[in-house]
Amino acid sequence: MFEPGVMFWAERDDLETVRSLGVRYGQLGIPGGMHLTDAVAARFKTALAADLTLVTVFAAYEGEDYADIPAVARTVGFVPRDTRAARLERTLAVSDFAAQLGVGSVACHIGFVPEDPGDADYVVVREMVRQVCDHAARHGQSFVLETGQEPAAVLRRFISDVDRANLGINFDPANLILYGTGEPIAALRELAPLVRSVHCKDGDWPVAGVEGALGVERPLGKGSVGIARFVETLGRLGFSGPLNVERETEDQQERWRDLAEGVRLLRALARP
Ligand code: MG
Repeated sequence: MFEPGVMFWAERDDLETVRSLGVRYGQLGIPGGMHLTDAVAARFKTALAADLTLVTVFAAYEGEDYADIPAVARTVGFVPRDTRAARLERTLAVSDFAAQLGVGSVACHIGFVPEDPGDADYVVVREMVRQVCDHAARHGQSFVLETGQEPAAVLRRFISDVDRANLGINFDPANLILYGTGEPIAALRELAPLVRSVHCKDGDWPVAGVEGALGVERPLGKGSVGIARFVETLGRLGFSGPLNVERETEDQQERWRDLAEGVRLLRALARP
């Protein structure tokens, strides 16, 4: 039987609110500007205590903009050239921080991977991902890529090309819809062997004919993912990790209300 978890952010969310959902698992996002010191790691380790287990630590980067597809292409992950060196260094630092917390997986959005393996940006991004994988491996960690910004087949080919055993996927079904890259259940089946963790997030497709527009994120169960079928498919594919609810709306009251609703929905769906 599946257990719910929650995706939450350091410096924005407090652990008491996370605990109020009654979950035992979580994924911690680290904002780009957050100062990562031994003291901060020690404080987190104590605060998480024995009752809250982090399955993943997510790195985000200063200067990222998720307003629409061109903004994502320009600013997110390892693809923008000017910030590559700094973001690689930051990712390795987040891996070290996660290791201090005893967390076995680190993640990020690497940005839009070019479809052409001969593209100069593709080659550099592949090399960066190898460096992160090798660094994470020394901590016994996996490095997982958030899905959705490219079709499943492109992501699968890229991961096979990187050729590192600890490289996997954090599967987010809503992102495939929001970016218009593919039907999420079919993508999940295609990527199943690579899935190390999941987000349970929902959303509706971009409006047809609006160039560069993203779809709209929705509370879990209220969008186009088909969460019941998503959970059922995860079970059939043998996935057994926690189902981490993610909600990205800016209004924090609405966000936590929806996260709590999402946890309730997953508990109902996961009942044998
Ligand atoms: Mg996500």
